[in-house]
Order: sequence, then C-alpha cells, then structure tokens
Amino acid sequence: MNYVVFDLEWNQPVDGKSFSDRKLPFEIIEIGAVKLDESREKIAEFSEVIRPQVYKELNIHIRKILNTSMAELMRGGTFYKIMERFRKWYGNEIIFCTWGTQDLTELQRNMAFYRMEPLSRSPILFLNVQKMFAVHMGEPDRVYNLESAVDEAGIEKDIPFHRAFSDAYYTAKILKLMNDDELKAGITYDLYHIPLNEASEISIYDNGQSYFVSRGYERRDSITGSRDIMAVKCEKCGGAILRKSVNWFSNNSKNYYSAAICREHGPIKSRLRIRHHDSGLYFAEKFTEYTTKEEVHELRERKRLLKEKSESPSSAPINEDKLIQEDA
Ligand SMILES: [Zn+2]
Repeated sequence: MNYVVFDLEWNQPVDGKSFSDRKLPFEIIEIGAVKLDESREKIAEFSEVIRPQVYKELNIHIRKILNTSMAELMRGGTFYKIMERFRKWYGNEIIFCTWGTQDLTELQRNMAFYRMEPLSRSPILFLNVQKMFAVHMGEPDRVYNLESAVDEAGIEKDIPFHRAFSDAYYTAKILKLMNDDELKAGITYDLYHIPLNEASEISIYDNGQSYFVSRGYERRDSITGSRDIMAVKCEKCGGAILRKSVNWFSNNSKNYYSAAICREHGPIKSRLRIRHHDSGLYFAEKFTEYTTKEEVHELRERKRLLKEKSESPSSAPINEDKLIQEDA
C-alpha cells in the first residue's frame, strides 16, 4: 500500500457580492502530490495547475498568499483532465494523506460538479497529518499551520510554501517522522459521503476511545429519538448501555455532551454532533471516551450553570428525547 500525500489550492469568488456557484464554493486550481511507498520513501511526484472554468478572477486573499497568477493557471488543463491524470498517477491500493481535513471533501465536490465517477460512494478513510503532528508535539487539540510545523520539526525549507506541490512535499516530510501510534492518531473519515445504511455505519473503538457515524435520516428527531445513538456505552463491557449521570445538554455550540459511570471501568463521557449533510439528510457523529470523576463533575456544573441562564432559549438544556437545536 502506498501513501498519496496531496494538497490542493482553490479559488473563490473575488468578493462576497460576486457570482458564487453554491455547488462549487471552492474551485480547485492546482493539485500537488507526493507518492510514498510502505516505508514512506518518496517514489513519485505530481504537480499540475488547473484552468479555472467558474471563477475567472483570483480572489484577493488567494492572490496574496498563492505564488501564482491567472495567466499561469490559464495554461493548465481543465479540472476533468487533470483529475483523470491524477487518478491514473496515484493508482490503486493507496491511502490519502492531507494536512487538515478539507482537501478530500473539496476534491470530491469538484469531481461531482463535473459529474465525474466518484472516488467512493461512502466515507473515505484517510490520514490527517496535521492531527498526527499535534499528537507528536503532545498538544493533540492544537491546530498547527504547515509552515510552523515544518519549523518545529526542524525540516529544511528548501522550496517556497503555498503551492500545492510544496505543501504536499512538506506534509510528506512530516508524515515520515511519525511513529505508529501517531500514524494511528491521524486516522480520519472524510464524510463527503455519509454511510449509506446501517451496515455501513462507522463504529470504531481503540484504546479507550470510540467513534461512531450514523447513516443519514430525513428527520433530526429520528436521531435524537434513537435509543442506540443516544446511549452512552461501555466498550470494555462489550458495549453495555449505561444509565447517564449527566444527561445530554448543549452549550449552544454544535456539540451535545453527556456522561455515565461504569461500575467496573469508571467514568465515560460522550460528545455528539448532529450534522446536516449536503444531501439534506441529518446524521450523527459521536465521540466517547473514558474520563475522570472530576470531568464528569465539571460537565454537571456546566449543565447546571446553563440551566440557570436558560432564559436565553438557545442555551437551554435539552432532553434526550427532545433535541431541538439546529446546526448553525
Ligand atoms: Zn464497563
């Protein structure tokens, strides 16, 4: 299996008032990639600019950071042609690796815009090198930009940043430094396509943490009414459903929180997001992990404080069977 580390540059409408195609908020104007073998040694390179077909002027912010001009882009091939070439170049039995989580989604969105055969019709597993690097640095929640990561890692900056190829090149160098645990920490699912049915729902458990992605539902309350989705489970007890010690509540973000205590394995907390997919369906993402009594206590306090302030309806605590908040 090879690693395909890629990076995209994209363009947007020149300003907020200009024409913007809802189906293509980001038009890809460059693809750069490095292919690595199993021991993460470089075996091939890919770099192509793409001739814009939707937004024919460079957005000012993009013009500022990107080392390119419209004249250069106009010499490129169409997205369709370059994408076909890219697919042929990377071949089969690969795993995609990117800096952050956005590239694979935008790649698929651009492919759909041009009605290309999709990469997949279900979630795609890929490696988020940005996440790995944060874990590597002992700050798993920090969001590093690529250049500061390259500095921190002491990697020589021998080509300029902010071209698709150079960003893929540096991402590949960082990937090379990661140990097996860090690699694992980068495992992510791209949810441009959500699970089609119950059988293809994502449910993984590793090292005290579990991650679940539901299939899509027409109605939001099909999710909040699902005993299974809304359960806090102890995986060490074979997925036993626990009685909650803190029932679901939201702090007015997109996240809901709850906690429970397993008599044998201790406190467990869950975070749930209900997301609205491009298709119009709702789906849930749930993260569950073992935690401390202190954190459960903190969650309970946060819920109590929110309840006190509940004259603001958006921050009102919610019942498990009556989640009413919409995604912003
Ligand atoms: Zn247990």
